Amino acid sequence: MTQPIIYGEADAPQKRPVWPAIGRGARGRCPNCARGKLFRRYLKVVDRCEVCAEEFFHHRADDAPPYITMLIVGHLAIGAMLHLEMTIEPDPRLYLWVILPAIVVVSLAILQPIKGAIVGLQWAHRMHGFDPENADELSA
Ligand SMILES: [Zn+2]
Repeated sequence: MTQPIIYGEADAPQKRPVWPAIGRGARGRCPNCARGKLFRRYLKVVDRCEVCAEEFFHHRADDAPPYITMLIVGHLAIGAMLHLEMTIEPDPRLYLWVILPAIVVVSLAILQPIKGAIVGLQWAHRMHGFDPENADELSA
């Protein structure tokens, strides 16, 4: 059984600001310095920041970004479709040519910012591999 690490005030890890880190990640910037890029491609997170060398290769965003994207877009689309049906009863082709492409465009537009926000949240809370005391996560 491992003993919990009890930090004194002097050796406690420095707190990281959560909301600024989420905002920086959502804008595709390094949660630490806000200057380096967080993504090298659409959803590929850089291994480390090119400006401050903060490591990001051990993030664990996993399925959270698509889950949150589907949650948001699903609620918007269902709400819009119910509203249309109850007010103007549109031609079904409207769904095919307007609503379905809008769902795809909005999903692709918000997926990267949501992933960046998740990585920023994990970095700020030192979750998973961002915690230097968590050797199990680093070796996984
Ligand atoms: Zn940085």
